[in-house]
Amino acid sequence: MPAPESPIADDVPVVRLLHKLLTDAVGMGASDLHFEPFEHFCRVRLRIDGVLRELAQPPLSLRDKLATRLKILARLDIAEKRLPQDGKMRLALAASSVDFRVSTLPTQFGEKIVLRILDTRQAALAIAELGYEPAQQEALLQAIARPHGLVLMTGPTGSGKTVSLYACLQRLNQPGVNIATAEDPVEINLPGINQVGINERSGLNFATALRAFLRQDPDVLMVGEIRDLETADIAVKASQTGHLVLSTLHTNDAPATLTRLLNMGVPAYNIAASVTLIVAQRLVRKLCRCRRPAGQRTGGYLPQGCSACNHTGYRGRTGIYQVMPVSAAMQALILAQAATADIARQARTEGVIDLRRAGLLKVLRGDTSLGEVLACT
Ligand SMILES: [Zn+2]
Repeated sequence: MPAPESPIADDVPVVRLLHKLLTDAVGMGASDLHFEPFEHFCRVRLRIDGVLRELAQPPLSLRDKLATRLKILARLDIAEKRLPQDGKMRLALAASSVDFRVSTLPTQFGEKIVLRILDTRQAALAIAELGYEPAQQEALLQAIARPHGLVLMTGPTGSGKTVSLYACLQRLNQPGVNIATAEDPVEINLPGINQVGINERSGLNFATALRAFLRQDPDVLMVGEIRDLETADIAVKASQTGHLVLSTLHTNDAPATLTRLLNMGVPAYNIAASVTLIVAQRLVRKLCRCRRPAGQRTGGYLPQGCSACNHTGYRGRTGIYQVMPVSAAMQALILAQAATADIARQARTEGVIDLRRAGLLKVLRGDTSLGEVLACT
């Protein structure tokens, strides 16, 4: 990684404006920053706690200059304006250095540039800070303490799967443990962990990375995502031969994940013998301390709005989870190729709470609002 570069190297309006926008975005806790060129105006928007909103409308005269300046900072080819590019940059902003992932997109009136702000604090979060209920956390800790087995995190994009995986890896990251990860892309560096960025174009996909890991004396493997049978097969076999394997899948809930693996073509006996725990998750916004009681009939709290939360009523996010250990009874259901509904029923019998229930617990405690939970479960 190159040394942090200050974006205020020159005292010109575009440089100063950019420095202010980036400092504001980071200070407000944004995850993404969009620079959008249109015919008669340009716009900067940012995403905070999952919600996109406008930050500024810079003068039209700076429209192309902003894009060029960002491309220089990210060491992209400034002459290439017809093809998408992606890169990274590290900037010194307000006394700390911040990493960004930068992507460009040629649109009708210039290049749209999106910055993903890589929050290294997210990668350092402990499992206890992620919002698991005590029993859920205990089940997760037990599963990752085992020397073998497949632990799966599921949910849509942006549901916090990577943060959960990183928290598990940080806990396992000890001098006596060899950990390798295959990620697409590697977002945050984890010292002590061998992280490999996937590069499909050059032939380095999840399956080839996994195969290579197995020749490198591994203990714990993390695969960014299981999206094909080949990757699923290797992950399953590795988890049955003395390795702990962590990965993610795009499914709605924990029971559906087992059926999804079956549908991908993984034999039922392999699923039953390898998967030890499945976590389904979503992110909900946390109510700001300006929240007000919703009234006795419904219970819980409603968002209000104050200067601390930018008048949104919410500040920060937390996870809601369904944590499902694969029990002997569930293994039997998998072997019988039972329907998702039957697996879900068995999970409930064993005390596994679903995402909606987990969310309602947080509503009753005033951590989030009913609206947030209903919107994502
Ligand atoms: Zn507030």
